[in-house]
Amino acid sequence: MPEPLISLQGVHKVYEMPGGATGTVLEAIDLEVREGEILAILGPSGSGKSTLLRIIAGLAAPSRGTVRYRSGVVGQGVALVFQSFALFPWMTVQENVEIGLRAQGLTTKERERKALQVIDMIGLDGFEGAYPKELSGGMRQRVGFARSLVVDPDVLLMDEPFSALDVLTAENLRRDLLDLWIERRIPTKAIIIVTHSIEEAVYLADRAVILSRDPARIAAQVPITLQHWREREDHRFVQLVDQIYGLLTRRETHPAQQSGRRVQTVPPVRSGALSGLLELLEDQDERVDLYWLGEELSLDVEDFLPIVEAAELLGLAKVAEGDIELTEEGRNYADASLLRRKEIFRDQALERCPALQNMVHLLRQKSNGRMNREFFVDILERSVGADEAERQVDTLVDWGRYSELFAYDQESRQLYIETEAAEETAPTA
Ligand code: ADP
Ligand code: MG
Repeated sequence: MPEPLISLQGVHKVYEMPGGATGTVLEAIDLEVREGEILAILGPSGSGKSTLLRIIAGLAAPSRGTVRYRSGVVGQGVALVFQSFALFPWMTVQENVEIGLRAQGLTTKERERKALQVIDMIGLDGFEGAYPKELSGGMRQRVGFARSLVVDPDVLLMDEPFSALDVLTAENLRRDLLDLWIERRIPTKAIIIVTHSIEEAVYLADRAVILSRDPARIAAQVPITLQHWREREDHRFVQLVDQIYGLLTRRETHPAQQSGRRVQTVPPVRSGALSGLLELLEDQDERVDLYWLGEELSLDVEDFLPIVEAAELLGLAKVAEGDIELTEEGRNYADASLLRRKEIFRDQALERCPALQNMVHLLRQKSNGRMNREFFVDILERSVGADEAERQVDTLVDWGRYSELFAYDQESRQLYIETEAAEETAPTA
């Protein structure tokens, strides 16, 4: 076998958090990019997919481990395609594409020839002289592709390149790119695409790499050996989608604390959304295919997975091999009155969610049963960063209020336990 184009060995990435703590984003990533393959990288939102891509591109350095390029030069022969490109509004399509060639020391004539050839190839023929504002979103993204392809990269890295486009436009561009690849009209030797669409991965890729979260490790790799062009109705296609769905929803059994990254975090899901899911599952009785459910809800995995994760965390549903079903508690919940639901939720949350348990514990310690919301944000911020801390506390407060473990006063931004004694001593905000 020829030497891999790019190989990563034991790659770790650690970020400094505000407050001096460190967070491990990537851990022990071993990955080889081989000639002739399209690789899809999938993983939960915030797991580190973009970070990994930037490291492969040589735009970020790993904290530990090595990235080796066949060319021997960091980042050489690699081009990146982003979700949306910053095109220069005062430049024409052709000028925007030629920017990609600036560093190559070509003559004006050579640059022009090269740019026009790629513009033609990517389906923008006749628009060389147009300005970005005259183009549709899909065509602007084509200009971005052209800018990346014009350097004849060995490896094309794409970070959710189709996700800002509407469905039809995305499908068009996806097909056109695949056509260039299959017909070998581009000299590109390998493509890596980060995506949150399992279907997109199974449609395009020869191998799917699935990342876990907190920190990201390679949780699984799935070879996809179907011939192109692939049919989404093909049962083997559907089976692969199911398999990957199952792998993505599998809970990490590895204790996250080991890496020093973080305390258990809760998926940012409101209690109302959770109830919605449980009711839906109740209607279906038995097990339901998660992928089917996503379709039914018209939701992307990214939007939908956190709700499933929350249901699992609270022990109200369980997921296996791409199917989800209610647990006994989950069924009780779905059948119960509003009041009873709150009780079930409370029991499950207190038993299974240490962060919420801790909040309640601290509130009970206070003689007036009150604490500032900021207090909890501050503590969490050290381990998960500012934005995530806000999200976590929002979610925990929502869960706590719903299950009547505590109340929240919007004005004083305080959490408080509703007891008569607490009411008496509570400061009027
Ligand atoms: P994904 O692309 O999978 O959504 P990212 O690679 O963008 O995830 O981010 C992974 C994690 O790393 C996130 O928790 C994010 O907050 C964190 N992160 C990314 N870049 C930085 C940075 N420059 N400094 C600190 N944390 C970062
Ligand atoms: Mg990303």
